[in-house]
Amino acid sequence: MKEFDIIIIGGGLSGSSTALYLSKKGYSVLIIEKETVQNIKPCAGGMASSMKKFIPLDIEKVIENKIRNVEFTWKASDHVIADLSGESPFWIIKREKLDLLLLDEAVKYGTEILRPAKVETISKENEKWTINIRNKCKYRSEFLVIADGSQSHWAGYFNLGPKQPKFANTIALRLKGLGNIPKNSVRFEFGFVKNGFAWGFPLKESVNIGLGTFINNSLLDNEEINNKIIKSFGFEDLSFKVIKKKLRIWNGFHKLNGDKVLAVGDAASLCDPFLAEGIRPALISSFYAAESIDQYLSQRIDNLNNYSKTINNEWGKSMVWGRRIAQVFYRFPKTGYQLGVKRKTAPKRIAQILSGEMSYEDIAKRVIKRLLTRS
Ligand SMILES: Cc1cc2nc3c(=O)[nH]c(=O)nc-3n(C[C@H](O)[C@H](O)[C@H](O)COP(=O)(O)OP(=O)(O)OC[C@H]3O[C@@H](n4cnc5c(N)ncnc54)[C@H](O)[C@@H]3O)c2cc1C
Repeated sequence: MKEFDIIIIGGGLSGSSTALYLSKKGYSVLIIEKETVQNIKPCAGGMASSMKKFIPLDIEKVIENKIRNVEFTWKASDHVIADLSGESPFWIIKREKLDLLLLDEAVKYGTEILRPAKVETISKENEKWTINIRNKCKYRSEFLVIADGSQSHWAGYFNLGPKQPKFANTIALRLKGLGNIPKNSVRFEFGFVKNGFAWGFPLKESVNIGLGTFINNSLLDNEEINNKIIKSFGFEDLSFKVIKKKLRIWNGFHKLNGDKVLAVGDAASLCDPFLAEGIRPALISSFYAAESIDQYLSQRIDNLNNYSKTINNEWGKSMVWGRRIAQVFYRFPKTGYQLGVKRKTAPKRIAQILSGEMSYEDIAKRVIKRLLTRS
């Protein structure tokens, strides 16, 4: 039986960044990851540069593109372009590289990784978590972090997050070349995807294209439309491979911790239900999870309740509005595009959301204030 202070289930972005924080503080950490190293992760890699304050190492070498413009289209026309002001506030990173960079750094600080490994059972014996892994010895820890992503089995097992998680359906593909997307731009394409949108985020020499539907459980099975979208991004060769993924999205305020156990990232259902932004909440939740566990282990607190409160405050309050906007926008996308994107100030606001400068809550409050002062 091997013993650790903390065991983390899942070695993606949230698992690896939580491990890095905790091992840097001198705690013993084990990550249990079910997959071998992945070559491509279904993630377009768009992240607000302001998030670097939540990453405890320099990530310059995994930044593929620094974005200056955000383009919006409606069915490949009716362009709107928003300039991102100042130092590039939005970056495109290669997710598989970022995850690996964080993992390698965590290992330098003593984190151990077990991969590929599948957890069979978890139980509590004498105040410690006991984890059984197929064909391996038992592992024990004082704390448990659930970071097993959108298909999380363990979040539900410990009653962390919503009882009935909500999912966006997504398709991801990576194509060689930049198509017709200018190097320092990202493109959001509305109108083709039912109840959602498509995005093209350029890396150095390729583009991450994604399609997502966010309400009504709509599917992305219309090949003709999907091909039209790929062509609208400037690609003629349609012999690409796609990765389909159900992405767990934010669905209300919920408890994200139990007794010495908590959930982070997608496993905690934190992904933005309007724009599928999941890197930011993965990093924020990992930071606060590590902080709470550190405080508990150093006997400054005696439960993890603060973690759930902080995440609900720092992220949930904005996501309430993100969900409301998604429900209206994706139900009436044409009106949404005219009122939400084509309005003079709208592109700037969306750019501010992407850069982390403003939250959906800030924007909603502004709109309400404007309506009240008008009436
Ligand atoms: C198509 C697509 C495009 C996206 N684009 C963006 C974007 O541009 N910007 C953005 O901010 N967000 C984006 N997102 C969202 C973002 O990718 C996720 O929110 C983010 O990956 C969450 O990180 P995570 O570590 O919580 O989960 P994951 O990255 O999914 O990591 C979970 C890890 O747990 C492992 N695991 C699962 N089950 C087990 C188990 N039982 N035992 C052990 N290990 C297990 C998995 O193998 C995986 O390594 C996108 C998502 C999709 C699907």
